[in-house]
Amino acid sequence: MHCPYCQQSLTEVSVQCGACGLDLGRLDAVLGIPPVIAAGVKDTGNVLGKAGARQVRGALGRFEARFPQVQVALVVEPGPVVVPLRTWAWWLFNRGQFSSALDKGSVNRDVMLVVDPSRRQAAMTIGYGLEPFVGPRDLAKALEAGVGALAAGEWAVACCQVLVALDEGLRGIVGRMSQTYGVPLPLLKEASRPVGLLDPGEPAAPLSYW
Ligand SMILES: [Zn+2]
Repeated sequence: MHCPYCQQSLTEVSVQCGACGLDLGRLDAVLGIPPVIAAGVKDTGNVLGKAGARQVRGALGRFEARFPQVQVALVVEPGPVVVPLRTWAWWLFNRGQFSSALDKGSVNRDVMLVVDPSRRQAAMTIGYGLEPFVGPRDLAKALEAGVGALAAGEWAVACCQVLVALDEGLRGIVGRMSQTYGVPLPLLKEASRPVGLLDPGEPAAPLSYW
């Protein structure tokens, strides 16, 4: 995991970033008791609306069908203004009981996407199990896909766009790994078809690589 401030690598047991001093304990003091985050969509304020929530759950289902090893939590709500959104997402990921006790270290392939409608921003944190493959640049690229929709206040579209971009990014990474290590991936050809943003389509073929 990387420090949300300075991007320095952190170990799983790190409670403080050695480079910039960001400290989970201090964040606890500032942010209070963390909410419990489960996989799926958390939209307490019904920001997405009924149709939007359905759309986002569909996109989430397609993503998780493609990557059954990856568990996603999507939080749509205004983050506390006292910390940057990226820091809040990191704190939620670490403190929200999202990852089970069994999902430690390299088996933690959880993804948390946080969308803040007040700031019109999104942030993403991933588990250690994905970090050897997915870098901050990959995450930034996925987040960029939703920037326009966020600016326009189209929250559900933004969520779907980020999920689709993340799906495409992960498929690209899997493809490069397959070439590098010479590991055949029979599903890759099928999986390389573009996925329509709002196209319910067929269930995505799972890519079992991690
Ligand atoms: Zn740091």
